[in-house]
Order: sequence, then structure tokens, then C-alpha cells
Amino acid sequence: MDKKEFWDRYDLLNKDFLKNYDELENLFVQQLHEGGLDFFELSQIFLLGKFESTLPAFCALCEKNIQNLNEYVLIKLLFSYVHLNDHKSATHIRQILIDKGYDERRPGVLNGIDDFQPSTNGFDGKHITAKYDKRLGEFGEYFLSDLDKVEKFITQKWETVLPNRIFIKVINGVGPSPFNSLLNEIFYKIGHFHKSKFTLDHFSGGIVHEINHFVENNYLTFSIKKADVSSYKFIDEGYAEWTRTLYLKKHKEYKIYTDNCAYHMLGSNLFELSNLKNKWFTVMFDFLNCPILETATSFTYFLEDTFGYDEINRFWESIPNYPEIKTWTDYLKSYLGKDLIDLMKEWKNVILKNKGSRESTSEEIITHFELEQIGKDKMIFHYKSKYPLWAGHNIFIYDDKMKLQLIDKVEKYRFLKEGRLIMKLVKSEKLTVFVHFYQYSQKYEYKLL
Ligand SMILES: [Zn+2]
Repeated sequence: MDKKEFWDRYDLLNKDFLKNYDELENLFVQQLHEGGLDFFELSQIFLLGKFESTLPAFCALCEKNIQNLNEYVLIKLLFSYVHLNDHKSATHIRQILIDKGYDERRPGVLNGIDDFQPSTNGFDGKHITAKYDKRLGEFGEYFLSDLDKVEKFITQKWETVLPNRIFIKVINGVGPSPFNSLLNEIFYKIGHFHKSKFTLDHFSGGIVHEINHFVENNYLTFSIKKADVSSYKFIDEGYAEWTRTLYLKKHKEYKIYTDNCAYHMLGSNLFELSNLKNKWFTVMFDFLNCPILETATSFTYFLEDTFGYDEINRFWESIPNYPEIKTWTDYLKSYLGKDLIDLMKEWKNVILKNKGSRESTSEEIITHFELEQIGKDKMIFHYKSKYPLWAGHNIFIYDDKMKLQLIDKVEKYRFLKEGRLIMKLVKSEKLTVFVHFYQYSQKYEYKLL
């Protein structure tokens, strides 16, 4: 096929990418066979990253131009090598990214990904194909156990707009979990989980969250400009969490929790409100131990309260109804009728006025709390709790001037009923401790000697 013939055919099929997915894949495979890699230009590189069978060509074209690739493409290349089970090349690209300072700017994101070793067992559904790192053994297999439920949920919710193939790799690592939006592949870390029904639900809900990102991509009729990436992620992450609660059947309970989290974040003035929409990644990585995602989710719930469930539920699928709109900012303004920052100010006022959520159920969540001073400047708290808690996400500690203290977990595990928290020693007569878990809340004072 000559260039014109090929691209005409591509344009035609690409009008309905999902429906014509197999045909498009065949078209690319055939063209690579006939015309080789030289047929494609660097600007068309991402098209080759979208299909499993064209991934080797995607990698080869990247390698030919390796000097000119930006970080964004290098990460896609790394993910593609992992998918192809090519360790050596994946590790090489990882090193290039480390040299470029990626790990300093995005701590932990790529840990455990470049040396992924696929299990022989896995999950094979209609859309989802999942494998775990074989070194995780039975523990990795456990986290695949509800993927049939996940698949049922996503097919009911997004039947006609689901990616044809979704890949999941369960990673033996700790930290944020990235995804490859080209191939619709999720790299989900479980090194910070122990085995429990709660963490399994958290994982399965997390998969729904990631698939929400993929589905949104299919509605976008315009590309996201660099200046819009932050506000896009602020809405995108909050919305994906909002959807996750539908899978968990905890929509109301999670609203109470996220409004309480938002209160601690916004009320403590840790960052400018506008930074959530203008510097999303900076806030996110500056406050990795804080509920930033939950805060964004609280905003999505605010939109639901303001515009109604149906309107917000249709938020992404309505994008194609505005063919004249060419930017994300314009879409937000057209769909919501106001500037984002004005809505954010209204949201902040509501959160501060209500001190989080007025619908919290008061409960003794923490049953035991004990302090230990470590060295000159650190304190460790031992706690026992009715529910699994994650330091900084469920537990908030203030000094007697009501300044929020940054806390971290001691163990690598999140969600423990019995755990330890670490924070800097403070000069304070008492500490005020808030605990939030779904609809439940606890506030109490802890006297320091
Ligand atoms: Zn996300």
C-alpha cells in the first residue's frame, strides 16, 4: 500500500477505533511487513505503541531515535519492553531515565517495574489479561481473585467504550502505580499491602480507577495542552476515585471520608488552592504521605452535589457533544458553566464551614495509642485500631497550635490495624488526633508529658 492509500484507510477505520481495533492492528502489521519500519515517521510513533503485535516495531522506532526522545516517550518505551518481557532493554531505559533525574522528581514510581517477571498463572477475561510478578507467588495470585467481579463491573458500566484489551501487571514494589495509556496496561504495586479482604478490595477498586483513566481517553476529542495537564489530572484523579467507590458500593461513605481529608488539607493551608489545578504533580509529590487524591475526590463529590449525579456521571461521555471545543479549559467552562477556580473556592468554603463532613459517625476507632521518643527529635506512636489505617491518610495529628504534623508509617505496609507512625518531636502540651475511616470519625486529645 502506498502512503496515501494506507493513511486514508487508517483515517476511515480510526473513526471508530474500538470497533475497528482488530482491523487496525492487522493494517499496521501488514504495512510493517510490506513497507518496513521506514514507512513510519517519528511523529506517528505512538500509533505503533497501541497494539501488542506492533510493540516490537514501536520499540525499534524509538531506539532508532533514542537521542531525540523525551521523558514521556522513554517511559512508554520502558513499559513496552516490560510487556515484551525484555529485561535487559527495560533496565537500560530505566537507567537513562534515572540519569535524566526522573526518579528524583517522581520518587518510587518506576521501582519494581523494569525487572518484572511474569507468572505463568494469571487472569484471562474478555477484556482483562493479568499477570503477577512470579516472585510474589501465592500472594500475587490472591490479588487477581476478584478480577472477574471487576470485569463484570466495567463491562456493565462502559460496555461500548472499553478498550478491547486491558493488561494488568501486579508489581512487587512500593509506591505510586503508573500505567501505559497507549497499550492500556496497568502496573499495580502491592508491596505495601498485606493479605486481607480490605487490601483486595482496595486493589480491585484501584483497577477500576485505572480503567476509568483509559475510558476517559476514548472520549477526548482534543489533546490536552501542556498548560492544562495539571487541572486535567486534578479532575481526572478525583473522578477515577469517585468511580471506584461505585465498584466498592461505598459512594456515600467515601464522600464523608474525602470531605474530612479535604478539611485537613485545605484547612491547614499546606499549599495554595490554585496549586491543585496549576501544579498538580508538585503538590502530589511534595505531599506523598497526605490524602491529595482524596482531596481531589472531595471536589468531584462537590460537583455531584452542585450539578447532580447524572450530570457528573455523564461528564466524560459528554465531551463529543461539544465538537467546537478544542481545549480542556474550554470544556470545563462550557460543561460546568463556571471557571474551575471559582468552583474550587466554593468547594473550599463548604469544606471549611462544615469542618469536613457533617455526616460523620463518631466512633472509637483507635483503641490504644502510645508514644515513644526516638533519639532527640523523633516520636513514634504505636496504635491499635478497629479498622485498617494508613498514616497520613486516615490519621491526622495536630500540635497545640493546631498545626498539622506530617506523619509517616514506620513499616512499609499501608492499612494496618496495629501499626506505628513516625513524626518529628514537637514542643506541645497536647496533641489532637483525628482518625477517619469511611463514615467513621474520631477526635481525641493526647497529653504529652
Ligand atoms: Zn489515577
